[in-house]
Amino acid sequence: MTTVTASEAAYVVAALLFILSLAGLSQHRTSRSGVVWGIAGMVVALAATVGLASKDITATGLVLIAVATAIGAGIGLWRARVVEMTGMPELIAIMHSLVGLAAAFVGWNGYLDVDAELTGSLLGIHHAEVFIGVFIGAVTFTGSVVAYLKLSARINSRPLTLPGKHVLNIGALVAFVALTVAFVARPNMGLLIAVTVIALALGAHLVASIGGGDMPVVVSMLNSYSGWAAAASGFLLANNLLIVTGALVGSSGAYLSYIMCKAMNRSFISVIAGGFGTPAAAADDGEHGEHREISAEETAELLRDASSVIITPGYGMAVAQAQYPVAELARKLRERGIEVRFGIHPVAGRLPGHMNVLLAEANVPYDIVLEMDEINDDFAATSVVLVIGANDTVNPAATDNPASPIAGMPVLHVWEAANVVVFKRSMAAGYAGVQNPLFFRENSQMLFGDAKQRVEDILRSLDALDAPVREMAGTTR
Ligand code: NDP
Repeated sequence: MTTVTASEAAYVVAALLFILSLAGLSQHRTSRSGVVWGIAGMVVALAATVGLASKDITATGLVLIAVATAIGAGIGLWRARVVEMTGMPELIAIMHSLVGLAAAFVGWNGYLDVDAELTGSLLGIHHAEVFIGVFIGAVTFTGSVVAYLKLSARINSRPLTLPGKHVLNIGALVAFVALTVAFVARPNMGLLIAVTVIALALGAHLVASIGGGDMPVVVSMLNSYSGWAAAASGFLLANNLLIVTGALVGSSGAYLSYIMCKAMNRSFISVIAGGFGTPAAAADDGEHGEHREISAEETAELLRDASSVIITPGYGMAVAQAQYPVAELARKLRERGIEVRFGIHPVAGRLPGHMNVLLAEANVPYDIVLEMDEINDDFAATSVVLVIGANDTVNPAATDNPASPIAGMPVLHVWEAANVVVFKRSMAAGYAGVQNPLFFRENSQMLFGDAKQRVEDILRSLDALDAPVREMAGTTR
């Protein structure tokens, strides 16, 4: 068997491993094996690609590839080891930006280094691939960089609303089509520079126009774009595995975006078009009335007298790493015969399934962790809701205020409970940058401070409340 045939056969194996990986990642139970299949597929793919290229590469070239692979793998391992769960979306976004940048470079290289054997219509197809590859790559690059900046709170997550923003986006797409036709007819560097600049600006503008509440969809959409960018590079490099892998990532990312849009009651087209068709957000006049505060001791008393409690965790619980005392609180309350359940919003935290992972880590039983649709009708019959570091996902403006940037997004109806205690450090808005009228409702009280410390304070107060009961039991024995 020649090296080329062996490498092509290895490509088929790698593609199958990637498909197994996607299948594994689709369920919690099998996700670990999904990751292992993916790693195995990538190892086979890298080895096969080097094998395929080795016939045209000098020994020095092979050494350079080995060094580059080692540096890349080292950086990847380091980042993966140190990243916090809450930092995963921004890490994913910055990685997508690298895929986009690589695709744009491959496109430029395809223009600068044209195969002399390409003539006629094949040359035209090659130049179309160059143009499309550069366009998708550059859109993915800047879109992902802006997503990274928003997710890491380096820039405001509020949507950018330039005057005539949709006209700008549509204009950029029309210009891309026109320039592609011109480039295929008469390839030149000026047109390639023009499309690169337009695509860079379009990517940044599309993502900057999306509000914080829609960022989960944007992350999975950029994942899809990075797949299509890789597939475009695959065509240019005549690399079948890159085409297959890019198409797998592109289509699965697009499907995930579609599912997330449905879960969040968002229009898929609107989100990929930078918020096209969504009404402009109303300015927040800041007039929400007075909020009331509650202490940890008072919260403990409220809980002691409750018959049912629902805990709705959010990003703040992840930041505070409060899942362990929260699990302990749930255990203690259940021991007292109080019904305790958790209500999980599909985009609570910063990753799909973020809260489920944290609660599983703290050994909260699965059967008391319910999805939003399973628990939303039960809030009205609940004595106390503890909102632990959640904000956008419990914001009634999503249902009450059609002009709100998060209008229409399904949220947990915590305000229907008899008492709501909100754990957070200040009156600051949530990730979407929208003020939360929940904090000012008559049945809501704010428990300020770090969520972990406040839950620990409640645990101590509950013990203190129990102490006289224990002493009485001791003296009557
Ligand atoms: P939010 O991000 O809306 O709000 C979190 C709240 O936690 C803040 O208001 C903050 O208030 C509070 N907080 C932060 N640190 C602490 C702490 N140490 N102790 C106590 N409170 C703290 O949270 P949600 O989970 O409700 O909503 C998630 C948001 O993130 C949604 O808008 C979603 O669209 C978006 N998103 C979700 C992704 C996903 O896949 N799940 C991905 C990307 C974005 P304060 O500062 O006053 O303490």
